[in-house]
Amino acid sequence: MEKIAVLTSGGDSQGMNSAIRAIVRTGIAHGFEMIGVRRGFKGLMENDFITLGTSDVSDILYRGGTFLQSARSDEFKTEAGQNKAINNLHEHGIEHLVVIGGDGSYRGAQALFNRGIKTYGLPGTIDNDIPLTDYTIGFDTTLNVVTNAISNLRDTMSSHERVSVIEVMGRSCGDIALQAGISSGVDAVLIPEFEWDIKEISDQLAKGFQRGKTHSIVMVAEGAGTAEDVASLIEKHSDLDTRPTVLGHIQRGGIPTAFDRIFTSRMGHKVIELIENEITGVALGMEKNEITYHSFDDIFDSENVVDKHLYQIFQDLI
Ligand code: ATP
Repeated sequence: MEKIAVLTSGGDSQGMNSAIRAIVRTGIAHGFEMIGVRRGFKGLMENDFITLGTSDVSDILYRGGTFLQSARSDEFKTEAGQNKAINNLHEHGIEHLVVIGGDGSYRGAQALFNRGIKTYGLPGTIDNDIPLTDYTIGFDTTLNVVTNAISNLRDTMSSHERVSVIEVMGRSCGDIALQAGISSGVDAVLIPEFEWDIKEISDQLAKGFQRGKTHSIVMVAEGAGTAEDVASLIEKHSDLDTRPTVLGHIQRGGIPTAFDRIFTSRMGHKVIELIENEITGVALGMEKNEITYHSFDDIFDSENVVDKHLYQIFQDLI
């Protein structure tokens, strides 16, 4: 029986469990032996392997996080670290390794692929910052978590006629801020992909209050600035009362949405199909509602771009 191992790496995201479940169950249904590697590449180097049967992935579909746990490892970036990992895979007779993680994890998967291990990537990161896929695992759940958090903030902000400046995740990609901004009807979105003028934003907010608004919300992606800095800049350019809020790790929590569960189930199923068809060294994703795949090289050569049209829609809605 051919063996397939699966691991989760980097920051956890809601839907990773659902992806593991789909890979394991489809793999077993198609006659493979399935192995879980605990704690990402660290566990791969430390031989932290477990055999996974159908019932081992029961009751995880609706849980956030990853039951295999995740880790970051600098040692794995070295040749010596990778040698340990490769030796362990050979010792267990494992030919295929599925890596669920973000950009850094893909680099690790590609390093192993270049050294003869058949690897596959699934985009496990809430930031939606992987090229050649419309979504990453957990992004949709995070949008819902952020949208709900903003609903809760609105009540208190309107009681005190304040501007709430909310910082969300996204170092290089403003998708969480932009899309949660649209779903929450916020008044301004500051993201790293577009320039913004704090004086203009402050004037707009002040006009809103003059028109009778009781509160305003400004969304900031962490790559564009901190909530603290933006709040004090708004106070400098207006007489508005502001409150910064950093949503932080709460964004990684929450029960995975139906979308994330279905998306990951489809990719988990697809990766087994690719293994059977001897297509390897690829990362999966979804484009225009189709599950697609591209070589790691193509992913690294591509740029992740924000949806400009969506930004325009936001601008027209404020
Ligand atoms: P997130 O988007 O949530 O941060 P990520 O997968 O990008 O997830 P990283 O910490 O960048 O998270 O990467 C996860 C792990 O992948 C690292 O701890 C390291 O072990 C491995 N890794 C990262 N870059 C490389 C590289 N250039 N070569 C080999 N391995 C790498």
